[in-house]
Amino acid sequence: MEALNLVLFVAEAIAYFVLMVTLLHFRHRLGLGVFLTALGVMHFMETYLAAVFYVSLPFGDVSPGSSVFFSGKLMMILMLYLWEDAATVRQPIYGLFLGNLLTVGIAWVLQMHQPLQLSSNHTPDVDFLKEMGWLMIWGTALLYVDSLGIILLYEKLGDFFRRRVVLRFMISGFVLLTFDQVGFFAALHYFLDVPTAVFWGGWKAKMLSVCLYGAMFAIYEYRIRRLGADAAARSISDVFGDLTFRERYNDLLERTGRDMLTGVYDRTRMELEAPLMLREALRQGLSATVLIIDADHFKDVNDGYGHLQGDVVLKSIAARLGTTLRSSDRIFRFGGEEFVAVCPGTNHEEGLLLAERLRWTIATSVKTPDGSPVTVSIGVATADEDGSGFTAVLSAADGRLYAAKKGGRNCVVGRSGLVKLG
Ligand code: GH3
Ligand code: MG
Ligand code: MG
Repeated sequence: MEALNLVLFVAEAIAYFVLMVTLLHFRHRLGLGVFLTALGVMHFMETYLAAVFYVSLPFGDVSPGSSVFFSGKLMMILMLYLWEDAATVRQPIYGLFLGNLLTVGIAWVLQMHQPLQLSSNHTPDVDFLKEMGWLMIWGTALLYVDSLGIILLYEKLGDFFRRRVVLRFMISGFVLLTFDQVGFFAALHYFLDVPTAVFWGGWKAKMLSVCLYGAMFAIYEYRIRRLGADAAARSISDVFGDLTFRERYNDLLERTGRDMLTGVYDRTRMELEAPLMLREALRQGLSATVLIIDADHFKDVNDGYGHLQGDVVLKSIAARLGTTLRSSDRIFRFGGEEFVAVCPGTNHEEGLLLAERLRWTIATSVKTPDGSPVTVSIGVATADEDGSGFTAVLSAADGRLYAAKKGGRNCVVGRSGLVKLG
């Protein structure tokens, strides 16, 4: 008997997954409403089954409503999120939540009726409506938390293994369904006196479901979806196939706001990010140093070798800056041949040393086409001694850059004046 139940259990999981993923797969052709409606209809049934319908499996008494269908729905919500975005997945999450509150409200009103007895062996189960109401509210509240939790966890796991989508899918399922089992069982125990053994049986069944769904997800991901996507647009699917909307957005953000010529961040990014970098450093009780770097006599480079050669020189200045700074520092192109470096956690003395190293590196490695050295002048200012806002610090650094130019160029000027002559 248990063996038969297990076979039926697996068959139910396969049927649920295959049907729901088919609706999800063809959502652009059928409309997403078909998938969402099926999800909503199944939600009612699974809550009902979770309250009344239990079967015996080799590892305990379980409710297919909870272990197969509720677990499946949570995985469907995650899959919807993976292929669409937060704005789309919000719809079933809110819809299920509000729809169930309405169900409970209506159940409460219905109980005030005096229903007719239609035949002698059929009486309306009013008590069940009452219990079902509270179980629905609790299940729905849990589902709400579970849905957000599974999405957040999936995203978080992306920090550790971004391209391992199946692993992320399964870990998220294991964790959230364990959480859900604790929460849902507490309610079953409290409202319906369900015995403790059911907790473990149900938990194992949910873990089994995640394994089944994970395996089917893997088959679908690698055997069906990608093959279709490959045929359509291989290069795009290679880059974006594994990423969630948020990850794609962050990727794109990383690529935008870059200066076309030099590849460093542009001035818009500086206006957005530099003030935040300074504020964050100060909040942590650290200083932050700002360097403004301007190429010396750059007009002469352009005049002597042409603008295209001037561009090549600018690129190599930017490249030197990039390799000399730390990864927590940011470099922005401020103007034509001026760059701004923001270095959090760097005090004024360290900033001067860094500036001196930059100046020296450029003077010794960047050359014009005929081999004469290209030099830069650098003004250095530090928050919060030179001001706490980015604009104030930048303008202090700019004043010092001006002094560096007046002082003969190829040099660094800090708070106490010229650091070193080149
Ligand atoms: P100083 O030492 O006083 O800074 O002299 P400078 O000639 O560098 O100063 P100035 O600011 O007068 O000139 C900057 C020059 O940089 C003017 C412009 O032709 C050049 N420049 C600005 N943007 C670009 C660019 O994208 N490519 C090239 N090739 N040159 C640029
Ligand atoms: Mg210049
Ligand atoms: Mg300039």
